[in-house]
Amino acid sequence: MAPPSSHATPTLTAPTHETATQQTATVVGGGPAGLMAAEMLAGAGLQVTVFDHMASVGRKFLLAGRGGLNLTHSEPTDALLARYGSARSQLEPAVREWDAAALRAWCAALGEATFVGSSGRVFPSSFRATPLLRAWLTRLADADVVIETRHRFTGFGTAPGCVRLAGPRGAIERTADVVVLALGGASWPRVGSDGGWVPMLRAAGVEGAAMRPANCGLCITWRGEFVERHEGAPVKNVTLSLGSEAGRGDVVITAAGIEGGPVYALAAGARDAIEHDGTCTLRIDLQPDRTVEQLTGRIARARAGDSVSTVVRRSVGLSPAAAALMRELGGRRLPSEPGELARLVKGLPFTTTSTMPIDRAISSAGGVRLDEIDERFMLRRLPGVFAAGEMLDWEAPTGGYLLQASFSTAVAAARGALAWLGERDTLVGREAGHA
Ligand SMILES: Cc1cc2nc3c(=O)[nH]c(=O)nc-3n(C[C@H](O)[C@H](O)[C@H](O)COP(=O)(O)OP(=O)(O)OC[C@H]3O[C@@H](n4cnc5c(N)ncnc54)[C@H](O)[C@@H]3O)c2cc1C
Repeated sequence: MAPPSSHATPTLTAPTHETATQQTATVVGGGPAGLMAAEMLAGAGLQVTVFDHMASVGRKFLLAGRGGLNLTHSEPTDALLARYGSARSQLEPAVREWDAAALRAWCAALGEATFVGSSGRVFPSSFRATPLLRAWLTRLADADVVIETRHRFTGFGTAPGCVRLAGPRGAIERTADVVVLALGGASWPRVGSDGGWVPMLRAAGVEGAAMRPANCGLCITWRGEFVERHEGAPVKNVTLSLGSEAGRGDVVITAAGIEGGPVYALAAGARDAIEHDGTCTLRIDLQPDRTVEQLTGRIARARAGDSVSTVVRRSVGLSPAAAALMRELGGRRLPSEPGELARLVKGLPFTTTSTMPIDRAISSAGGVRLDEIDERFMLRRLPGVFAAGEMLDWEAPTGGYLLQASFSTAVAAARGALAWLGERDTLVGREAGHA
């Protein structure tokens, strides 16, 4: 995807004003949060430049598009807000102000109608990110937003609003009236968000919580013969549970463990348990639509002489992958007593001692601590510098909640920046009046 402009500005200090009166904004990070902040600020009349260290912007957004681009969720806003857990109170004003309906209207205005899937998740009708990003970049170019790719944020200059960047023609400093940082989390670093900004913010006195995997798979050590036969196989329509939490859907067997919607739904709880106890035990219900009693009856009615493997497939109705998973996790000798076997089908336990690494996670937890930003999303220690998106310390399950909060916080940060500029100008005007 070609950016609207890719001209580097290799001057030491770039001019801050295109005209004598036009205010300027630097946005660092060209993901959904950065581009949304740029759109809002340009819409308010600022001259905006977006810097990104990759060769093009929106790479993680495009990657998300490969899975259908679940933009947000159609559930009522209160239910949606509950998905942000302990970060809810700080995200709430931003999400209420620019909610799922606003997101959908924004997509529609870019020519991408959205629809609600059977799960309540919202998708663009094309199921892809490319048309949306293309239309968006055209809109940004029309608003004179300049996008400078291959520019890596390396820290702050000494002047207010000054950021340092390493570009193709060396180090530059860029000073603007306001700065919005939208540098993303630390998952899938090869699409750009590598968490490399953490030490730079720490050097500026901004505290961050450690980056940890979220919405990730769980590691399980399989026997060689099992993984050789079943790697990539889905175990369909199961319920995975961890204590009182449960997630339903398809689980996929991978070389290193399990992935899939229900796994991601429980991954944060499993990660926290592993950090606390070193280990975590979950259960899989391989037949969530049947009770233990129903299964016990079916197993008891099996033909005399049938092997347990046959009973599991014929009477219990497990797929070959589910039956193999049961043998792998339940021990090679499955119980033959009907009630015992039924209980195992309904609650197959397994233990994990690690999640998949952060570079394979859908998202990350951690980042700029929420007490480091004020209600306008401005960094308390760096007046005029705002932060938005996944680089902030919140996490949420899959279901569209990640993009929703990335967009909403970006809108809030841009509005916060405009409010702050207004206050600053009023103050300057008053001081000039008193001079
Ligand atoms: C495989 C996958 C599928 C996903 N699917 C969905 C989905 O369907 N629904 C959903 O809600 N979410 C999904 N997500 C998550 C979602 O994509 C992210 O939460 C979202 O992109 C975060 O937006 P952001 O703008 O905060 O950060 P990012 O999109 O990560 O953008 C950050 C930008 O900052 C740039 N950057 C980083 N460091 C620097 C630096 N030092 N200097 C300059 N630039 C820098 C990066 O290059 C990047 O362009 C998915 C993620 C993955 C990995």
